[in-house]
Amino acid sequence: MEIKTQKKTRLMPVAAAEGASWEDLVNTPEIQEAARVLREGGLVAFPTETVYGLGANGLDSAAVAGIFAAKGRPADNPLILHIADAEALVQIAPEVPPLARRLGQAFWPGPLTMVLPKGPAVPYVTTGGLDTVAVRMPAHPVALALLSAAGVPVAAPSANISGRPSPTEAAHVAADLAGKVDIILDGGPTSVGVESTVLDCTGPVPVILRPGGVSKEALEEILGEVKLDPHVQGGNEVEGPVRSPGMKYRHYAPKAPAVLIRGEPPELFQQVTALAQKLEAQGETVGLLVSKEMLEYWRREGVDQSRWQIAVMGSRTDAAEVAASIYRGLRELDGTNATQIILEGISTAGVGLAVMNRLQKAAGNRVIDV
Ligand code: AMP
Ligand code: MG
Repeated sequence: MEIKTQKKTRLMPVAAAEGASWEDLVNTPEIQEAARVLREGGLVAFPTETVYGLGANGLDSAAVAGIFAAKGRPADNPLILHIADAEALVQIAPEVPPLARRLGQAFWPGPLTMVLPKGPAVPYVTTGGLDTVAVRMPAHPVALALLSAAGVPVAAPSANISGRPSPTEAAHVAADLAGKVDIILDGGPTSVGVESTVLDCTGPVPVILRPGGVSKEALEEILGEVKLDPHVQGGNEVEGPVRSPGMKYRHYAPKAPAVLIRGEPPELFQQVTALAQKLEAQGETVGLLVSKEMLEYWRREGVDQSRWQIAVMGSRTDAAEVAASIYRGLRELDGTNATQIILEGISTAGVGLAVMNRLQKAAGNRVIDV
């Protein structure tokens, strides 16, 4: 008989007043308690500006193994180490190339993760067996207070069950991980809404392994040249080795099968509408993740959408707003009886590249170009 150990998960709101700094929070009882749990090898979910992270002491193999178990994450999918101070790099990545230092100055704290040669203190369980380590300094007062109070680098993947949409609210974490983690720190909804940009800084020209909160355009301003790993947009059919192991897994997916439709209005709106009507006629319950502009189109055209399940992702002209809404929208659709989901694509400019990467994965690479 399998014996399942349930943890008693404590949900702790961190009362961060508007504009509170991490120094304001670091001595609160919630942060001190969560830091103690981390130092003792426990699991703490916490907000960052991207998504909620599931944290453990990144230098403690047993604690890190607990992250993989709680998420059901494949062991070869490496974790990102989170730090509150660039000085902590000395311990985990002693060789920092000059370009990575420049990037740190430009984008930290912020949604940029750098892959660097790993130091001996970092266990292989954290790096999925690789000799490189991914590091980031998050821009969220609760995260920085926790990291600072813990005094250890904190390994933290997104705080969801592997394969599900990432959590952008504490309630999403609780839905996936209640009973599996010691503490969930509630700092409200996250602002960026998609994960960090993962940049391989080990070669002469940095390579984006995963698009995220820092855009390719912003990196180019600092670096001149940046490459994009072919797996970012091509899905799993692309030839060659997957350099970011996480990119090869089905990810960010709602429960019902989804399809992504890419293109420009008005053809895009017409195609999304036509597919929804066709699926409905076939007896499916249709769920849609769409922009405000799509809603306006339906109103203008008098489209009957009364039997559709609809989640709205903001304005398609505002990629940051869409980024902050897609995971909530996918989880909303999961809460309906939708049997088929249609996702409206947006432009890949700026953070739109990360949005489209996640939507393509949510659709299991089922993409229609109009
Ligand atoms: P998550 O923790 O869910 O945000 O995923 C972390 C992402 O960073 C995954 O796509 C990993 O494959 C990637 N990553 C972490 N460490 C490394 C590394 N050493 N080399 C390449 N990619 C990495
Ligand atoms: Mg993740």
